[in-house]
Amino acid sequence: MSDALIKNYARLDVTFRRGEGVWLWDEEGRQYLDALSGIAVCGLGHAHPAVADAVSEQARALVHTSNLYRIGVQERLAERLCAVAGMERAFFCNSGAEANEAAIKIARAHGSRRGVEAPAILVAEGSFHGRTLGALSATGNPKVKAGFGPIVEGFVQAPFGDAEAFESAGDRHPDTCAVLVEPILGEGGVTMPQPGFLRRLREICDARGWLLMLDEVQTGMGRTGQWFACQHDGVRPDVMSIAKALGNGVPIGACLARGEAAEALQPGSHGSTFGGNPLACSAALAVVETMERDGLVEAAAVKGRHLRKRLEEALAGQNCVVEVRGQGLMVAIEMNRSCGEMVGMALARGLLINVTAERVIRLLPPLILEDEHVERIAQTLAELVREWNA
Ligand SMILES: *Cc1c(COP(=O)(O)O)cnc(C)c1O
Repeated sequence: MSDALIKNYARLDVTFRRGEGVWLWDEEGRQYLDALSGIAVCGLGHAHPAVADAVSEQARALVHTSNLYRIGVQERLAERLCAVAGMERAFFCNSGAEANEAAIKIARAHGSRRGVEAPAILVAEGSFHGRTLGALSATGNPKVKAGFGPIVEGFVQAPFGDAEAFESAGDRHPDTCAVLVEPILGEGGVTMPQPGFLRRLREICDARGWLLMLDEVQTGMGRTGQWFACQHDGVRPDVMSIAKALGNGVPIGACLARGEAAEALQPGSHGSTFGGNPLACSAALAVVETMERDGLVEAAAVKGRHLRKRLEEALAGQNCVVEVRGQGLMVAIEMNRSCGEMVGMALARGLLINVTAERVIRLLPPLILEDEHVERIAQTLAELVREWNA
């Protein structure tokens, strides 16, 4: 591996040269089934023709002009996203962390407008919101923060899934002005909250005048079988951050807002040079249109149920498997001990998976997955778990 790269990643020794749908090919021509989608990014699979066409046509017409001018495709994308998310306005940026930075600034601006001197944001233990300083300060996992202090002040943690604990944490901090949580902890191990968690948070936020801000960077864009995971609970947040699958691999993030939260940022108070440029917005618009045209949100729900069922069947009787869980195509197999080495073992068998939170195998396959791919994932993992546990 080249010594010219900063060593902040522990990379697997494989280089992919080409992709198509759920498949990737490495430099030796070996074929792999991608059950990770570049960490929940390539929801439409690799080299999707609609995205490829949109990007190449836009690149020939115009890549970038800046937000000093109107951008038609950005306005159209904002309208489509707000329509599917039940939100009112969008700010475009380039990543999930940046979308959360915008959310954090909205919360602080909202607090500041109400005369709160040191606005606090309630966040969840075990959460992940990104690697920039604001986002890592909001993150509940101490490993993400270790060695990078002093962290940004104004974040108060409460246990994920326990709305009453959020309520009392907020009441202990009278300057609380917002809650920021993931609907399902992604990096934190595909951890599902108690049923009713988001609904209860919505009620608490309404009663206290706090903004409910949801980090749907991983759970959004159809991943869980709804456009956004909060829609399973019929909950509408005040602010929603999205990124990952939004551009199918073309870097783009967005912070969506409604009501008072949509008024918090004024001209000059926030921005991004690249954010929402014609190239990235064309890709994202093609993603949204393809997902609607091909019914991929519904497909994620159906295929996710099928995948979890087949995994449960294929792994039945394996005493090292604690649980198969998830929602839609965000799927976890929790093992009884740390299992990071399974990533390399799966790679050797032509399957891309991820392990997070030490002992949780995480599957985030493309939403275009077919039954034959489900079968292959279940069979390969069954063999793998048997070998690993032997
Ligand atoms: C991946 C992720 C982020 C960070 O996104 P980047 O694009 O890497 O900055 C933030 N929140 C959640 C829930 C994520 O899964």
